[in-house]
Amino acid sequence: MVIYQCRNCRQVIGHYEGDWDDPFLGLSTLDSQWRKECIEVLGKQVVRVMVQCDACLPVLWDEGLWYN
Ligand SMILES: [Zn+2]
Repeated sequence: MVIYQCRNCRQVIGHYEGDWDDPFLGLSTLDSQWRKECIEVLGKQVVRVMVQCDACLPVLWDEGLWYN
């Protein structure tokens, strides 16, 4: 099971009821440094992935379109 949690506000964004190393998720193919930074093993086949939720994301890249 994979739990996605926001690294800023700690909100749980969602979870995936499968194996964390499911090739579909691509988590097992991440390089080891990124994996160490963002993935925390909570238990047997349970990992937490630190991401950013919509509310905590930096300014959207396409917001500049408003100036055009
Ligand atoms: Zn957040």
